[in-house]
Amino acid sequence: MKKYMITGGFIIVIMALLILALRWKAEHEKVIVLDPGHGGQYPGFEMNGLVEKDIVLNISHYIKEDLEKKGYKVYMTRDTDKECDSKGYIEDLSCRPKLGRSVNADLFLSIHANGFSQNPSVRGIEAFYFTLFRDKKAAEIIAAALSQETGLPLRFVKFGNYKVLRESLVPSALVEVGYLTNREDAKLLSADAFQKKTADGIIKGIEAFTK
Ligand SMILES: [Zn+2]
Repeated sequence: MKKYMITGGFIIVIMALLILALRWKAEHEKVIVLDPGHGGQYPGFEMNGLVEKDIVLNISHYIKEDLEKKGYKVYMTRDTDKECDSKGYIEDLSCRPKLGRSVNADLFLSIHANGFSQNPSVRGIEAFYFTLFRDKKAAEIIAAALSQETGLPLRFVKFGNYKVLRESLVPSALVEVGYLTNREDAKLLSADAFQKKTADGIIKGIEAFTK
């Protein structure tokens, strides 16, 4: 009888430890959804020989690789040169935040590069948020870390009524990593080493936001 009680007690202790371990993992494994803007039939801005969809995909790959090494669970709305949903433009935009919702992400981050042909002197980083209570902090932290790491000026962080942010329902931000219509930004962003630096800045921001 005593032997069975000891065995039973032992099993209960093991199960309790297992439950604690699973809870610890669930609490500590942060989930990030990266959304490289555009893709496939939607190139985004094309300026100075650079294509937005390619640059933001490259940067996103760097971010994913590094965040996974740091123990994050990372999803991408696209991991090659394709749309998130090829049915149409609206469907494609809805597909992106849908992934963020379905995995209940700790952060959904849409990554873009900017363009303003009318004034090629405009350069630098911008970030957008949709809700004050949920998203603003993420946008501010990531934009600041990105500007600090890359040395690119931070233009502003402000409200943006974008579909990908509006339909997200998890903490979200949209970041513009620089202006392809500006010679300096374009030259920097064309270099692989600078794309890596951009990724490093965003990673620092994500770490600061999710810690
Ligand atoms: Zn874009």
